[in-house]
Amino acid sequence: MTREVRFELMRPPEIAAARRACPVAYLPVGPLEWHGPHLPMGTDAMAAHRVAIEVARRVGGVVLPAYHLGSETVRAADGPQGLRPLGLEGHERVVGMDFPGNPVRSLYIEEGAFAVIIRELVRLLKQNEYRLVVIVNGHGAPNHVRALRRVAAEENEPPRAWVVFERSGAGPLAPEHDPGHAGRGETSVMMVAAPASVDLSALPPAGTPLRYRDYGIVNGAAFDGRPTPDFTVPAEADPRAASAAEGAALLERNVERLAAQMRRHIATYLGEHR
Ligand SMILES: [Zn+2]
Repeated sequence: MTREVRFELMRPPEIAAARRACPVAYLPVGPLEWHGPHLPMGTDAMAAHRVAIEVARRVGGVVLPAYHLGSETVRAADGPQGLRPLGLEGHERVVGMDFPGNPVRSLYIEEGAFAVIIRELVRLLKQNEYRLVVIVNGHGAPNHVRALRRVAAEENEPPRAWVVFERSGAGPLAPEHDPGHAGRGETSVMMVAAPASVDLSALPPAGTPLRYRDYGIVNGAAFDGRPTPDFTVPAEADPRAASAAEGAALLERNVERLAAQMRRHIATYLGEHR
């Protein structure tokens, strides 16, 4: 039987024993956010939760529930993350992925309030004598990432307790490039993490172009300011090409990357106590 690592399913003696063996707690975070008509709103936190569980099984530690919390802000007209590279006019008021035609709004939390909630969770974990708290982030918005990095830096208290920011995704090959949104990669991962919640039939048949603004599905290069000429999702990022096999391979890559990173953190920060 695999060792239980999900905090909410563990009894106090199990939690105490797991903490003696490895005083590490993972906090998976991501907003309830529009991910196209074919993916669930909780995609980011669920993917982060899934990665954290597998890493904890391999490396040690416990995993808090998926916290469906995250922030976004108003897009500027131009530049990376801007409206015009996404095929909009530039005068619309768009927060995050909430494009004008979407039938449901994301539940983004204002970034100051978001940081307060995350800080409180981190503080409670430190009070519970975790010596290494790992924020496992599943969402890429710059203001959201800044808030998490700030809380991690401010709550870091060596040598008593360390707080680190990590991403659940290994991302595309070039780390400076945005991995995109609700495309082939994320859809493949969700086919493994929450298969019943994925519905490719909510998209038009393969071959019909998917305009960014109509579906809220965007390839990473467009976020970086390099969209396709007609502002549609290119073949390599098309969610209709997703598969569970690709999702399993991506998840394994993400898990291996974070597990390797965690082994380094544990050796560096907790080495003398283990
Ligand atoms: Zn996402």
